[in-house]
Amino acid sequence: MSDLIRWTAAELGARLAAGDVSSVEATRAHLDRIAEVEPDVHAFLHIAGEAALARAAEIDRLRAAGEAPSALAGVPIAIKDVLCTIDMPTTAASRILEGWVPPYDATPVARLRAAGLVPLGKTNMDEFAMGSSTEYSAYGPTRNPWDLTRIPGGSGGGSAAAVASFEAPVALGSDTGGSIRQPASVTGSVGVKPTYGAVSRYGAIALASSLDQVGPVSRTVLDAALIQDVIGGHDPHDATSLTDTWPSMAEAARFGAAEGSLAGIRVGVVRQLNGEGFQPGVRQRFAEALDRMAAAGADIVEVEAPNFEYAISAYYLILPAEASSNLAKFDSVRFGLRVDPGRSTTEQVMALSREQGFGPEVKRRIILGTYALSAGYYDAYYGSAQQVRTLVQRDFTAAFEQVDVLVSPSTPTTAFPFGEKVDDPLAMYLNDVTTIPANLAGVPGMSLPIGLAPEDGLPVGLQIMAPIREDARLYRVGGTVEALLEAEWGAPLLSRAPTLGRPVPVPGNGSEPDGGTR
Ligand code: GLN
Repeated sequence: MSDLIRWTAAELGARLAAGDVSSVEATRAHLDRIAEVEPDVHAFLHIAGEAALARAAEIDRLRAAGEAPSALAGVPIAIKDVLCTIDMPTTAASRILEGWVPPYDATPVARLRAAGLVPLGKTNMDEFAMGSSTEYSAYGPTRNPWDLTRIPGGSGGGSAAAVASFEAPVALGSDTGGSIRQPASVTGSVGVKPTYGAVSRYGAIALASSLDQVGPVSRTVLDAALIQDVIGGHDPHDATSLTDTWPSMAEAARFGAAEGSLAGIRVGVVRQLNGEGFQPGVRQRFAEALDRMAAAGADIVEVEAPNFEYAISAYYLILPAEASSNLAKFDSVRFGLRVDPGRSTTEQVMALSREQGFGPEVKRRIILGTYALSAGYYDAYYGSAQQVRTLVQRDFTAAFEQVDVLVSPSTPTTAFPFGEKVDDPLAMYLNDVTTIPANLAGVPGMSLPIGLAPEDGLPVGLQIMAPIREDARLYRVGGTVEALLEAEWGAPLLSRAPTLGRPVPVPGNGSEPDGGTR
C-alpha cells in the first residue's frame, strides 16, 4: 500500500502545501486503495472517482495560483450517506431513497467543499441511522477492517471502516445515540459528537432532530479537530444552530499534545458506565488509560450519575417518536421510491411504497414512535421519557460541578461478530448504554483508541465528555491522552492496523512483532 494513504489529514495537508504531492496524486492513491479493499470492506455506497479527480485537479490549479482555500485543501474525505450531496445520490442506506440525488448540499458538505476538501464518495450506514452494526443497511453490511467477520459499528460503520482501512484519511458521520463514537471505538478510530447545535444539521436527513449531530471521524484527535473547525459554526438554515463564536479546536488539540500533562484537570469516572456487563479486556484497557491519565497529573474521581441507568429506555421512546414524525415525509409523492401497481388510490400507493421501501428496523421504530405519541399513551411514554431526559441532564450538570471532563469506555464490548445481535433489537439497543446520555443532554463526546483488548486483539475506545459548548476541552484532553499513548506505543494505534482479511495479531500470543501489551 502506498505510504501516502497512511498520512493523517494534517500531514497530507502540509505535504500538499509544501508541494511534495499533488491533490490528484493523493486522491488517486485513495481511489486505488478503495478499489483494492472495497470487495472486502464495503464501506462505500457510492464512489465518486471521476468527480473527485476533477475537483482535485481544480484544487491543484488553485494552489499553483496561490489560492488554496484552507490547510486541508486537496485532502480527500468520505461522507456518510445521511448527508445531502448535490452531485451524488443520497439514500441513508434505504431502498426508499435509492438513486435520489438531492437538489442541494448539506451545510457541513458545502463547508468542506469550500475549504477545498475532496469528497471521495458516500459511506454505508444502518438504514436512516438506526442501528449499531450497519447490518440494517438495505445495501448489505460494512465489514470491520480489523476482522472481516465482525461489525464495524453503526450506524456510521462505513465512515469508520473507510478511515480505519485507509480508504480515506477523514470522514463525516452523524451521531444521534452514538453513531460516530461507537463505530470509531470498534475500528480504532477517533470520532467526535460535537455539542448539539455546534455543527449545522441542515441537509442531514433527520433521524431524531433533538439528538442528531454531525461530526468528524479520523485517525487522530488533531484531524477530527481540523474537520470540526471547517464544518462548525452558526448556520442560519438550522434553527437550532448555536450563534457562538468557537475557539479553534485544532489549537486546543495541538496545545493538549504539546502540554503532555493533565495537571489540574479533574476527570470524573462515571460509575454507571463501567463495570458489570462490560468485557474484561475493555475494562482492563480503560483502567490502564485512567492510570496513565493519573500519572500525567489528572485528578481521577468517581462520579455518580444515577439516572444514566434509564437513559436507554428514555432514548428508545424519544428517538422513535421523533423518527416516526421525520420519516412521514417519505410518502412516495415528493421523492423516492413509488410502488404503483396502477388504478390504486394515493393511500394504497403510499402504503405499498413504505411497505417495500423501509426495512424491518425502520418499521419497528415507526410503529413504536407512533404508539408512544398516540393519544392516551403520550403522557405515559413520551412524557415520562422527556422527564427522564431532564434528569439525565441534571446528572451531567451535577457531575460537571465536580469535574472538568467525564470518561467511560466508549462501548461495553469490542466489535461483535455479524449476526450476534441483528435479530435481537434489545441486545442491539443495550450496546448504546455508554453513548446515549451525551445525546440526551446535548453535551460533546469523543471516542479515541486506547489499545487492543487482550482477549480478541480488537480496538478499545475511551469516551471523553465535556460540558455543553466545551468542545475545545475535549480536544485539549483528547490531544494529551493521545500523545501520552503514542509516546508509549511509538506509533498511532492505526498505523499498526491489520492487513485486511488476515487474522488480527493478538497481543500476548506471540503473533505481534513486539509482543505488544496494548
Ligand atoms: N445505535 C443507536 C440507534 O440505533 C444510535 C444511532 C445513531 O446515533 N444514529 O439509535
